[in-house]
Amino acid sequence: MTDTRTDPIVVAGAGHVGLIAALSLAKSGYNVINLGELPGRSDKRTTALMMPAIRFLQSVDLWQDIEPHAAPMTTMRILDGTRRLVRSPSVTFEASEIGEPAFGYNIPNSTLTAVLGDALKKSTAQHKAVSISKYNHVGDTIRVETVDGSSLTASIIIAADGRSSLARDAAGIAARTWSYNQTAVVLSFTHTRDHHDTSTEFHTEYGPFTVVPLQGQRSSLVWVTTPEMAAELLAIDHDELAKRVEDRMQSMLGAVAIEVAPQSWPLSGLVPTSFARNRIFLAGESAHVFPPIGAQGLNLGIRDVEALTETLPVDGGDPGSPDIISAYNRKRSPDILARTGAVDALNRSLLSDFLPVQMVRSGALELLRVFSPLRSFVMREGLRPGSGFRFSTRNAGHQ
Ligand SMILES: Cc1cc2nc3c(=O)[nH]c(=O)nc-3n(C[C@H](O)[C@H](O)[C@H](O)COP(=O)(O)OP(=O)(O)OC[C@H]3O[C@@H](n4cnc5c(N)ncnc54)[C@H](O)[C@@H]3O)c2cc1C
Repeated sequence: MTDTRTDPIVVAGAGHVGLIAALSLAKSGYNVINLGELPGRSDKRTTALMMPAIRFLQSVDLWQDIEPHAAPMTTMRILDGTRRLVRSPSVTFEASEIGEPAFGYNIPNSTLTAVLGDALKKSTAQHKAVSISKYNHVGDTIRVETVDGSSLTASIIIAADGRSSLARDAAGIAARTWSYNQTAVVLSFTHTRDHHDTSTEFHTEYGPFTVVPLQGQRSSLVWVTTPEMAAELLAIDHDELAKRVEDRMQSMLGAVAIEVAPQSWPLSGLVPTSFARNRIFLAGESAHVFPPIGAQGLNLGIRDVEALTETLPVDGGDPGSPDIISAYNRKRSPDILARTGAVDALNRSLLSDFLPVQMVRSGALELLRVFSPLRSFVMREGLRPGSGFRFSTRNAGHQ
């Protein structure tokens, strides 16, 4: 039998999750090889990362180079932007209510790519900008072949190769996928009024319209709508687009000018039957895809990486043993399944014209608006699963 302890960990994919996984595992002392093309600068999205993800990035020395480009989010608002019979009340969440300086920070994806790429050059993790073409399980190892014809032997694979993951297939993990009749239009804009570090989510009949602060008098927008309207928004000129954005926000931020041209992202969902199997661990979009509501995707991907750093053995034991595989599945299943289900349900409740569904959503938001312990619970759970429960239990013990 081959000694798996001498074989490297291969991180498949050099998207944000793959890079963060390679950097943090290398920092923990593992022998890591990251395979995949680095993302280019074409992704014009921004990513809202919540405080638990920021704290993890701090712990692996990545945050100090991201922070100068990041904008804090101290207030989050949900507003009803529908014209329905049952309108939901607006709810405002303040980070100070749960003793946090901010809920998190909003960062341009191009900044994340640049900082993580620079960190990789200084890290002990090796990187090869080549795609993987095949995996073969050989005893307690995996033979990895790349499209340039070379190959290497790995102890385990971290599958950070996105939603169409080849590594997930090689593990024998099936995935349920679905698509939404929705497209997210993303863009950034300047505005004449201050955003006061506030992120605002308008709930519309077609999905959320979310405005997130950037540095200065600038914000990014994720506008979830029908594919037809998305195509129209991409086709109109920037002055007309700015007017539509301003109107949709009821001029909340004053006059708007488009700074970063719009891009569109069709929305889909994916959930696999398992999160680790046959020496292959899923992380990021190989493990979970859902609509961009409440800034969850990369936050969840960073929690996958955090779970890997906590689960893989540091004492030279076999990182692909059945015990480690089970431990990772136990750690990740509840969080991923709960988030995927909650985001899907919230998204569908926005789209539904069914009156009882509207009444339940409206009632839930009204409860959140008036009942501050429930609001703090939801805010804590939104940041990190279990933290709302832990806080409530601790406080009950003190009463
Ligand atoms: C409009 C929109 C807004 C969003 N906003 C937020 C937000 O505010 N906050 C948040 O937390 N999340 C957000 N998300 C989600 C977030 O963008 C994703 O969770 C994140 O990008 C997933 O990163 P990843 O590295 O897992 O996947 P990807 O970025 O897809 O990276 C996978 C990488 O693997 C590579 N690859 C594929 N196959 C192979 C192979 N065979 N060999 C080698 N490499 C391979 C690909 O080329 C790619 O580089 C948003 C998503 C959308 C669509």
